[in-house]
Amino acid sequence: MNSHSSCGLSLRLKTGVTALLLFVFQMGLVSAAPLKVVTSVPDLADFARRVGGNLVEVLSLASGKENPHAVALKPSYIAKIRSADLFIQMGLDMEHAYAPALLAEARNLRLQPGKEGFLDLGEDVQALGVPAVLDRAGGDVHPKGNPHYNLDPVQAQRMVRAIGARLALLRPAEAVLFRANADAYVREIEERLGSWKARLRGKGVRFISYHPDFAYFEERFGVRQEGTIEPKPGIDPGPAHIEALVRDMQTRKIRLIVKESFYSDRVPLELARRTGAVLVSVPIFVGATPEARDYLSMMDALVSAFTK
Ligand SMILES: [Zn+2]
Repeated sequence: MNSHSSCGLSLRLKTGVTALLLFVFQMGLVSAAPLKVVTSVPDLADFARRVGGNLVEVLSLASGKENPHAVALKPSYIAKIRSADLFIQMGLDMEHAYAPALLAEARNLRLQPGKEGFLDLGEDVQALGVPAVLDRAGGDVHPKGNPHYNLDPVQAQRMVRAIGARLALLRPAEAVLFRANADAYVREIEERLGSWKARLRGKGVRFISYHPDFAYFEERFGVRQEGTIEPKPGIDPGPAHIEALVRDMQTRKIRLIVKESFYSDRVPLELARRTGAVLVSVPIFVGATPEARDYLSMMDALVSAFTK
């Protein structure tokens, strides 16, 4: 074989390999890199994982074991946000103490408010408990109204759909899959919602909690939050507020104290001892307790705590 014909064979081989690779790529058999998603709280990470499957890589800044208003920051978060394709938050100022500063520090232009890489799920919420005047005086962490709408499964369904739509916008080639995954999760939530309602509605459950995070849960399930251990959202109680709570619980016969898992036991235990009320610790985010593995099991655990 002379050098001329071997060169011609090599050229034909190369052309053939290139054409094959092009064909494989066009058929979508070579997958693009997963979309990198950062969420503020773990419920949003659960939704993004379910909708995105193995086409997304998801990080939640808060673990579920932390107060969502005061998340301990790790330096690694900056790098994660810098390389992310999408940032998702609850909004209504839930993440006010850390998200705006992290986004500014990471300087990722795709993730700025108004861009496709920034999804604020609070924008479409009719907020409950909006104060007459926006005021963070004294450390009030709900100046734009109550941001704990994740405990309403109907809001969860809306969030799942919104995340599906946004992932589809960022990666149109996978839009059909994202929408199908979102629809499947919405149906699963719908199936559980009926049993959660059946277990709570009409039972006359009345309780106090540490923080006012049950406003939307209350509306959906007909339970009644009669007060909070915090005098204002984010403010720890002083002796006068504790005395007033004890009197109020005795007068109005409130028999249940619901403590969100990451708050201190000290005041709830004192109230339980002095009033004879039952104290239960509950997850209010995915990952808060071992049984709260995902949104469905978190809500299962929460509903069970109210029906004990
Ligand atoms: Zn709050």
